[in-house]
Amino acid sequence: MDAPNVPLYTPSTRSPKEKMLSQRFPIALMGMCSILLAGLAACGVPQEAPPEAPPEAAVPAEPAAAMPTAAEHAAAPAEHDAPHWTYEGEAGPDHWAALSEEFAACGSGLAQSPIDIGEPAAADLANIVFHYSPSAIKVLNNGHTVQVNYDTGSYIELDGMRYDLAQFHFHAPSEHSVDGVLADAEIHLVHKSADDKLAVVGVLLNDGAANEAYQAVMDNLPAAESPETKVEGMVDAAALLPAVQTTYRYAGSLTTPPCSEGVAWNVMTTPVELSAEQLAAYTAIFSGNNRPVQAMGERALAEDSTP
Ligand SMILES: [Zn+2]
Repeated sequence: MDAPNVPLYTPSTRSPKEKMLSQRFPIALMGMCSILLAGLAACGVPQEAPPEAPPEAAVPAEPAAAMPTAAEHAAAPAEHDAPHWTYEGEAGPDHWAALSEEFAACGSGLAQSPIDIGEPAAADLANIVFHYSPSAIKVLNNGHTVQVNYDTGSYIELDGMRYDLAQFHFHAPSEHSVDGVLADAEIHLVHKSADDKLAVVGVLLNDGAANEAYQAVMDNLPAAESPETKVEGMVDAAALLPAVQTTYRYAGSLTTPPCSEGVAWNVMTTPVELSAEQLAAYTAIFSGNNRPVQAMGERALAEDSTP
């Protein structure tokens, strides 16, 4: 896989205004750059980094201007001036679109994520085929979440297309809700195709039995903003999934600025359990890093009815 798929940690410098804001929202503003999902919103990509080819418009019916792509964001001349965003206050979700033209989709997009999963239409969809292998644990705290960058070579097949697993990260509580109820947390396994299309597998996490598959990660969550660090142990993404792998599927977006659309969302219908202690290891660092659910609009929501 090409290097740009791997999320980048970038040290940053803060303007006086940012420092002032940081003092007002210290935790939420720990992250300096919107490095989310596949590291696509890399506002701090070093100048020498080769720009990615612009991905194709993932939703051709939409005007291109409504879909600021992550690659465009990364290549923008003003990347080091990209605004900071948070989950509360003046730079919170209600204000993301106003923070930057690049974030316009956060406000004007009609296919945004997350959503409340209400009444999906049952469908006999082709199963996602998981080709996951264990990976070293390369963990970072980007100021918005804790993320584990995944070794290359693991991928899914979705509707005949290969999407390579780049990373997974956490939100607490969950971003997607089911019938209005949030889970305790959610992981997003972020995949990217060769032509830069994104597919995310979401797994809802609830308080319950301890889950060994998550333990090595939960033992190594960086409390402060930090670059990628390889830690002890391995993680197997296959073991992070529930045993029953049917999904809710819909077309959505990044759940963080720039809120780019064209993301194929696959939320597991079956939550998995983590112990209270495991969940607390994460929420001690990040709590409330969930974007509110967005309007479903005219979109279709399907539930795969056949394991
Ligand atoms: Zn996410």
